[in-house]
Amino acid sequence: MPSDLRANLESVRAKIRDAASRAGRSADEIKLVAVSKTHPASTIADAISAGATVFGENKVQEGEGKIIEIGRDNAEWHLIGHLQSNKARRAVQLFDVIHSIDSIELATRLERICIEEDRPTLSVLAQVDLAGEKTKSGIPESELPELATYLRSCERLKFDGLMILPPYFENADDVRPFFRRLRAIRDEMFPEGQGELSMGMSHDFEIAIEEGATVVRVGTAIFGEREFVKTKSE
Ligand SMILES: *Cc1c(COP(=O)(O)O)cnc(C)c1O
Repeated sequence: MPSDLRANLESVRAKIRDAASRAGRSADEIKLVAVSKTHPASTIADAISAGATVFGENKVQEGEGKIIEIGRDNAEWHLIGHLQSNKARRAVQLFDVIHSIDSIELATRLERICIEEDRPTLSVLAQVDLAGEKTKSGIPESELPELATYLRSCERLKFDGLMILPPYFENADDVRPFFRRLRAIRDEMFPEGQGELSMGMSHDFEIAIEEGATVVRVGTAIFGEREFVKTKSE
């Protein structure tokens, strides 16, 4: 196994502990999603040996082969990328948590598929777009209450929190207002102590934790730089 991976994972965990302690929080409340997109199943297997238990993939099709190879039940699998409606059934079959619910239409489809597939519950997060970035997915803040009401009426979908993929800033500290705003929305929408906040990536997960993240999605800091592979669906 590349010794880097174990060391990287340790270093990310140490930073999570430090950021949590700065914020007066316990590191136990923070889930680390190791973002394995573009990396092969063998790398995921190495990460599992090094102690990682939760993996994030941003494409259903790419995740599928790896999840089958590693074993559906041998890790917790999170879909963190935009979900196209024609991939919804496969996503329901493969993933434990979907972070990218951004429309009532998608939620309706997933609820129906859960019923058809006899899946009793599916944990979902609403992806919120606070920057009005048309190129990215996410539901505008103004439409979020209606989506939340719908999700709460679902029998199978479990509305577990909010996710954000904020704009990239050279100076990571500039992202803080987005994290702070998402937290305020979460606090309004969920009873105290409930509602996950999926926010923070390699370059800003410590800031996200200071601002209340309960789920961080970290790829590069664990697995190293990704080679950019352009696929048909991009
Ligand atoms: C790729 C990706 C990440 C991880 O990004 P890194 O900068 O490699 O840590 C997190 N969230 C989403 C939605 C992603 O697509």
